[in-house]
Amino acid sequence: MGAPSVVVIGAGQGGAETAAALRSRGFSGRITLVGAEDALPYQRPPLSKGYLTGSTPADELDLRPRSFYEAQDIELITGTPVTELDPGGQRVTLARGGGRGVRLRYDHLVLATGARPRVLPLPGASLAGVHTLRDLRDALALRAELRPGAHLLVVGAGFVGLELASTARLLGLEVTVVEAGARVMERSASAALAEHLTAEHRARGTRILTRREVLALHGDGTGRVRVAELDGGERVAADVVVMGVGVLPRTELAADAGLPVGDGVLVDATLRTADRSVYAIGDCARFPSPHAGRPLRLESVQNASDQARSVAGAICGDAPGPYAAVPWFWTEQCGLRVQLAGITAGHDRTVVSGDVAGRRFSVFCFAGDRLLGTESVNRPADHMITRRLLAEGGEALPGPAEVARPDFDLKAYQRARQPQ
Ligand code: FAD
Repeated sequence: MGAPSVVVIGAGQGGAETAAALRSRGFSGRITLVGAEDALPYQRPPLSKGYLTGSTPADELDLRPRSFYEAQDIELITGTPVTELDPGGQRVTLARGGGRGVRLRYDHLVLATGARPRVLPLPGASLAGVHTLRDLRDALALRAELRPGAHLLVVGAGFVGLELASTARLLGLEVTVVEAGARVMERSASAALAEHLTAEHRARGTRILTRREVLALHGDGTGRVRVAELDGGERVAADVVVMGVGVLPRTELAADAGLPVGDGVLVDATLRTADRSVYAIGDCARFPSPHAGRPLRLESVQNASDQARSVAGAICGDAPGPYAAVPWFWTEQCGLRVQLAGITAGHDRTVVSGDVAGRRFSVFCFAGDRLLGTESVNRPADHMITRRLLAEGGEALPGPAEVARPDFDLKAYQRARQPQ
């Protein structure tokens, strides 16, 4: 019997990292990385940030140069969606060859298909100038329309929407953000952080409307969007609209193959689906998180990359056990570097520590006395130390009374705990 073969579906963050991690662990079998996009695997985070302003040029987006895949003997097939998965026959079908699918056999399969943006079914949603932002093509189309003086309407105040608002202000656009929830980043950040970021955006001239909904988009007779109609009858100028209302995991291949899905491809603690030869990672996977104490789907570079390395380990037979990496995330808005460590959903109190006026502070999020995580603004040391302490477990973490002391310093706290 020859060396086993691996097929990775999705040449994004998680897929590319899986292929690279397999080789760095000494996997000697065939690796095929199949991607629907016509591009080398690239980083998405700059698409709402530096790529739009020009500070991150297109050639810096690639995760690795083409020569890397050649040198590592990773067969990279781009511009080619996988159309079918047959777990029984351990085969996938590629959309290629004049409509007749090409088939590939695998011993191990990794689903790293990511997610697609959710689109609100608004009247006018198909007008020119209405965008979503997930991939390079979206970013290219959007970039061409972000002209100084134009009015940008961002629907949804999640991370991508707020990053975009911040970037567009830098580019000289008039920006309105409309959020149906009670505040910005309701799903993903504490009220304390949300309040601070809202004030930062408003200070830069962005209009943020919460508890408001866009009911319709109206064009100007040429088929181009010009105005958004909100609940209550208000009309907002909108030469460009971006829907930043979340994503839907791409689960259709798994679902059609009979694998269990439900807001993500369902996997166990080792990131395996119901079929032992098939793994799922990254934005498309729902996994049991020891940090949340429940199944979770995360959308972050950290999650896709760490899960990729974990699956590569499992395929090579040297996995240390269940996937348990501490989740973390970063965002850049209004000139601030915001870093989140841990799963803070479900916190019932927050303690803010540091220099808020000086824009260097952390929000510590607790459930009772237990620290769930921190949200750090321009305080990378708090972020890094929290990640370390969360990885060490319960004993290591400071409680709310400790953090609330005026002289509290996480670095000093950690130093004091280290054995002399
Ligand atoms: P992806 O990187 O999306 O890759 C999935 C790939 O699979 C895609 O290329 C897709 O075309 C392909 N695919 C899908 N179906 C098929 C098929 N049937 N056949 C073949 N290929 C297929 N995260 C952070 O941590 N920090 C940030 O600041 C940040 N900013 C972001 C900004 C933007 C604008 C976006 C869109 C995302 C951002 N993220 C950020 C999230 C992060 O980029 C994602 O969580 C990460 O890319 C997920 O990796 P993935 O491999 O799961 O999916």
